Amino acid sequence: MEILADFSLDELYAKFNQYPRFRVKQIFDAIIQAKDYNKTNLPKDLIATLQQDYILKPIEIVKVLLSADGTKKYLLKLFDGNIIEGVFLHQNYGNTICMSTQVGCRMGCKFCASTIGGRVRDLSAGEMVGSIAAMNADNGVKTKRNFSNIVLMGSGEPFDNYDNVVKFLHLLTDKSGFNVSERNISLSTCGLVDKIYQFARLNFNITLCISLHATTDETRKTIMPIANKYSIADIIKAVKFYQQQNSRRVVFEYCLIKGVNNTPADIARLKTLTSGLTCHINVICLNENGGSLKATTRAEAEKFVTDLNKNGISATLRRSQGSDIEGACGMLRAKTLKKADNQN
Ligand code: SAH
Repeated sequence: MEILADFSLDELYAKFNQYPRFRVKQIFDAIIQAKDYNKTNLPKDLIATLQQDYILKPIEIVKVLLSADGTKKYLLKLFDGNIIEGVFLHQNYGNTICMSTQVGCRMGCKFCASTIGGRVRDLSAGEMVGSIAAMNADNGVKTKRNFSNIVLMGSGEPFDNYDNVVKFLHLLTDKSGFNVSERNISLSTCGLVDKIYQFARLNFNITLCISLHATTDETRKTIMPIANKYSIADIIKAVKFYQQQNSRRVVFEYCLIKGVNNTPADIARLKTLTSGLTCHINVICLNENGGSLKATTRAEAEKFVTDLNKNGISATLRRSQGSDIEGACGMLRAKTLKKADNQN
């Protein structure tokens, strides 16, 4: 069965040219507004016909956790019963949605809960649109866009689901859809170098974020298996190419792990690695998820950022919103799956 949300409005006009255009627009609005089709003005027989061949609503909200800081974490159910996560962050400069691109992940980063259980499957572009639509509708007037920023930083590796993610970015920025500005979108990758080059050539004006987390290949290999395939030097070369193509500032994510990556030598190497790049380092305190890796103290993290700044490197410590509700990547889903397992 095809998922209706996989199509843009123009594609739906072409696909359903037997229907009047205003009907097709009603179908499209139902997708974008995450509406129950039975509560639209669509004729019942048309809904019944569509239901025979298409998945009309790809996402259902299963659970919402509200953090003390207003952050909302969502468990979202796909049509086949798989569960993904999303986060809605209320911010002064415009709300942000953090979304998933895969069910699970196969990158195997040691610190990340999304990777527990591996990759189950990719999300289609329409499922990604559906997740945005569901969270948007739950956070304000349904007919409006209630967010300004989208970050592809939830579960999954966006470049391991490259074609669907690119299609999703086209749908997300489409004028007849959510019409999100490319400059308000960030995509985070663990560094699939060949895909960074491929993506750079598409000239999307979006912010590329690289999960770096180490300054030597040796250390990176101990926490991120992808480092066995691509060296840090390869990544930096690809990032430079990306920047030549679209002149956006690149963001490096650097998750501090006790005894692994927070020495003065790391700071010196970060200075060398980032020289000649317009970039920012987003330092993150590790969210411990039961594994052997431990977080540094907040004070150590703050000192790391200050030392980077003293070395002329633009860096900030990421505010950790929603940490009281399993805010980090994949943690809520992992916990939910574990619970379900115990009940079986
Ligand atoms: N696969 C992509 C996007 C998902 S992870 C990537 O690797 O970038 C999004 C960000 O959250 C990454 O920087 C990731 O390294 C970070 N992250 C994952 N688990 C974390 C944890 N336990 N604590 C802190 N940050 C974490």
